[in-house]
Amino acid sequence: MAFPVTRLRRLRRTAELRNLVSETRLTPDSFVYPMFVCPGEGVRKEVRSMPGVCNLSVDEAVKEAREVQSLGVPSVILFGLPDKKDEIATGAWADDGIVQQAAQAIKREVPGLILIGDVCLCEYMSHGHCGIVKPAAPRSLGAAVRVMEDKKFDDMEQAIDELTGQAKQLAEQNYEIVNDATLELLARTSVSLAKAGIDIIAPSDMMDGRVGAIRKALDEAGLINTPILSYAAKFASGFYGPFREAADSAPQFGDRRSYQMDGANMREAMREIEADIEEGADMIMVKPAMPYLDVIAEAHRRFGLPLAAYQVSGEYAMIEAAARNNWIDRERVMMESLVSIRRAGASIILTYYAKEAARVLG
Ligand SMILES: [Zn+2]
Repeated sequence: MAFPVTRLRRLRRTAELRNLVSETRLTPDSFVYPMFVCPGEGVRKEVRSMPGVCNLSVDEAVKEAREVQSLGVPSVILFGLPDKKDEIATGAWADDGIVQQAAQAIKREVPGLILIGDVCLCEYMSHGHCGIVKPAAPRSLGAAVRVMEDKKFDDMEQAIDELTGQAKQLAEQNYEIVNDATLELLARTSVSLAKAGIDIIAPSDMMDGRVGAIRKALDEAGLINTPILSYAAKFASGFYGPFREAADSAPQFGDRRSYQMDGANMREAMREIEADIEEGADMIMVKPAMPYLDVIAEAHRRFGLPLAAYQVSGEYAMIEAAARNNWIDRERVMMESLVSIRRAGASIILTYYAKEAARVLG
């Protein structure tokens, strides 16, 4: 039947009718709230590029967790800012690591809340990469030597400075993120987090084989009931910018394109997800959300596992920045962005808006 018998506007006439025929419903129980835990006491330090999001000391994280739960949001994901960083990410897997401390405290004070532990090494590495870095010696200093020859240096010191700079640059272009050795640290981190009270292990590093390595380590430690939520399709994205301030995890050199995915690749994303399922992932995630809604939809169509999507810091920061300029209606855009992620097929949404959206929905 076509117009005039069919009039699609009939069902849009009132708010009640629109609500009755709504195809996508948001509820707070699909939200996960990300929290950044830092050392100290009584610390609530707002992240400059993420208004309303704070670095929280353990005591403040407990308060925040209680508020999250009171709003009907069932889960938080924890990220850590250690007081010291090194080349083997000790802070990630130490039993008294910052996330381990937070997990113990929150489990004790807010027992019903589901604790997800992000597993990655970048926040704990002095160089800010997600794995162990092996500097590869440059094959030749030829270019650098030529600099010395080409330029007329007044003094030797200047020449040495120039050569050192060039050599450093070459070394930084020639590093490698070592996959298999990194797996050992990720597995160790996962066991340590689960023992501290983390309910769900969520590896976000994008090393090959990490889900299998983590599953094996958890099982060997008797943690057979700890599920893995794999950041299965995590794209190298400019939308992570504000997070790196929040978690103090910007790489000191290079970028993450040798392990995170190329945003152009849908088919590869499906292979990544398949591989993680094969290795034992219980849930899968696509990250970021809004620029990758098609990837979420395709993953939803293909795979039967619970599917999560991460509305990342840059997505949040863009909405916040535009709203501050009164260029958009903040609440409306917030809810619309969350509905779009749900509609694409994500049943779990990690979002900095978890608390606020829960308030709107409540
Ligand atoms: Zn990382």
